Amino acid sequence: MKALYGIFGFPVAHSRSPQMHNAAFAELGIDAVYVPFEVAPERLADAVAAVRVLGVRGLNVTLPHKAEVMALLDEVEPGARAIGAVNTIAREGERLIGLNTDAEGLARSLREAGTALEGARVVVLGGSGAARAAAVGLGAHAQHVTVATRRPEQAAALCAAVEPALTCPIDSCGMDAALERALSGCTLLIQATSATLGEGEGPERFAASLPIDALPGDATVCDLGYKPLETTVMRAAAARGLATVDGLGMLLHQGALAFERWTGEAAPIAVMRQALIG
Ligand code: NDP
Repeated sequence: MKALYGIFGFPVAHSRSPQMHNAAFAELGIDAVYVPFEVAPERLADAVAAVRVLGVRGLNVTLPHKAEVMALLDEVEPGARAIGAVNTIAREGERLIGLNTDAEGLARSLREAGTALEGARVVVLGGSGAARAAAVGLGAHAQHVTVATRRPEQAAALCAAVEPALTCPIDSCGMDAALERALSGCTLLIQATSATLGEGEGPERFAASLPIDALPGDATVCDLGYKPLETTVMRAAAARGLATVDGLGMLLHQGALAFERWTGEAAPIAVMRQALIG
């Protein structure tokens, strides 16, 4: 019988996960299909109950369900708890296990791009879900993490929430003179706000407002946004001769990690990347 996988979101039509996972199943000759499910917030509990009844083998979860779904599962792994969000559900027998592959997906993506994580001094811009995943994913390897937000209380709350899960110190600052000081000692800048999404004046203004010149010449700048693939912040970093990493790698590797958890097979990375781009 064909195995069923899917993604819950609202909306969900924009998701590139179906093309990525279906290409991976085809490549490995796995008899399975991955389907987008548009699940309205008030029907989430019904949808999870249906997963149990229908024997769905694995799911991804996207906005707006990543936090709310946690209460509906049999177990949530510690990493997902620290991030406060589940992006993947694995079935183990009758039990539904929630995990988060964003954090490790980012770490894998950076390693693939040749970025050193061990001993890194990381600055994360942004205080929401993506920033939290970045802090947890990189805080397992780095020497130090600073989180910077335009509303300082948001960064402080993020630090308090993730600190117990990290093996390195973490602190916070505003997007002001303190950010310039943090950047001057930074080896890896993670842009995890939504300010570089899309085109036009907003993303240009945001990039121009950042003290990119304060970064050391050997720093790497990674933007988690992937629409567009080369963001204004990456362009500003490249103009200074800094190494840049785009957000597609994180999207790819969070999917690859989910695929590996569901199937026990090594994910066909090149095929999945091509499916995402194509
Ligand atoms: P949210 O919309 O939940 O949060 C956005 C964050 O950006 C908030 O902290 C917000 O601050 C901040 N922000 C927005 N505009 C500005 C600005 N002009 N100046 C300073 N801060 C600003 O987004 P997510 O955390 O879900 O995602 C953030 C980005 O990461 C998006 O581009 C998303 O596409 C990307 N992403 C990429 C993934 C990948 O796999 N590559 C995975 C997940 C996300 P405030 O609260 O003050 O508005």
